[in-house]
Amino acid sequence: LLLPLGAFIAAFIIGMVVWLSRRRLSPLGELQIAVRKHEFIVHYQPIVALRTGNCVGAEALVRWRRPDGSLVRPDLFVPLAEESGLIAAITDQIIALVVLDLKKLLVANRSLHIAINLSPADVRTARVLPVIEKALQHTGIQPRQIWLEATERGFVDVGSARSTVIRARELGHAVAIDDFGTGYSSLSHLEGLPLDALKIDKSFIDTIATDSATSSVTPHIIDMAKTLKLKIIAEGVETQAQVDYLMERDVDYGQGWLFAKPMPAAEFMAYCRRAGLPA
Ligand code: C2E
Ligand code: MG
Ligand code: MG
Ligand code: MG
Repeated sequence: LLLPLGAFIAAFIIGMVVWLSRRRLSPLGELQIAVRKHEFIVHYQPIVALRTGNCVGAEALVRWRRPDGSLVRPDLFVPLAEESGLIAAITDQIIALVVLDLKKLLVANRSLHIAINLSPADVRTARVLPVIEKALQHTGIQPRQIWLEATERGFVDVGSARSTVIRARELGHAVAIDDFGTGYSSLSHLEGLPLDALKIDKSFIDTIATDSATSSVTPHIIDMAKTLKLKIIAEGVETQAQVDYLMERDVDYGQGWLFAKPMPAAEFMAYCRRAGLPA
């Protein structure tokens, strides 16, 4: 009788240990630890002037570097960070990292800008603006060298988004709408927002030079952006045929694997030197 009882107790204890360790390693728990331990790094994907190939700046893209050295893509943790409210702390860390990584480059090259992704909550509350202001103090980086981008989800609540956009532009930043075309923004929706730039979502760039239904939408997005006097950035550019099409329609900027993938700061600086900087 004692033997099965001992086995039962052992199994119970093992079960408890497994359950406790799983619980300790819940995705949210892990993310909280990552925030506390500053486990995030930023990669930079060049944005190029299509006509010259010059490097005009980069988009800052967060990666979570796990203690084992592996990199986790933002799609796998940004949604949880947004739901849980941890995103505010992560955005703050990214702002600090951008300044740390690129201060020298940005001060030496005034024509370069870095785009930082904001989550809907960052746009709604504008909490991030004083954080950026403080991070830029005594660095010599000009506010106009920091662009802010948010997806259409960030502009759903037009009232609060509008005041954030206005304040950001008063401070000198440019504001871009990201992944345009994937949400539900209409022209009238955008007209009320004093935006600077529009990033055409990769899904619309993918269809260029194909005859799928969405390919007929892409020229309308371009025309609409021009009507609103927005700078246009094509995202996810992968082929020269796409570049040719975009240049024919006077789209100025592109970002995508054809030019470069997101990369660490040092590599980005080397890329800019090779590609050349605008005057
Ligand atoms: P996004 O802002 O639209 O960023 C562009 C994404 O497209 C990046 O993915 C980039 O690596 C990828 N990409 C660029 N060019 C190409 C291409 O030619 N081909 C393909 N297949 N992909 C390309 P990434 O870095 O995995 O980021 C995914 C998303 O996560 C971003 O989409 C953005 O919404 C979000 N994200 C990234 N960093 C941050 C951040 O710092 N804060 C917040 N709130 N969200 C972020
Ligand atoms: Mg973006
Ligand atoms: Mg985008
Ligand atoms: Mg996208």
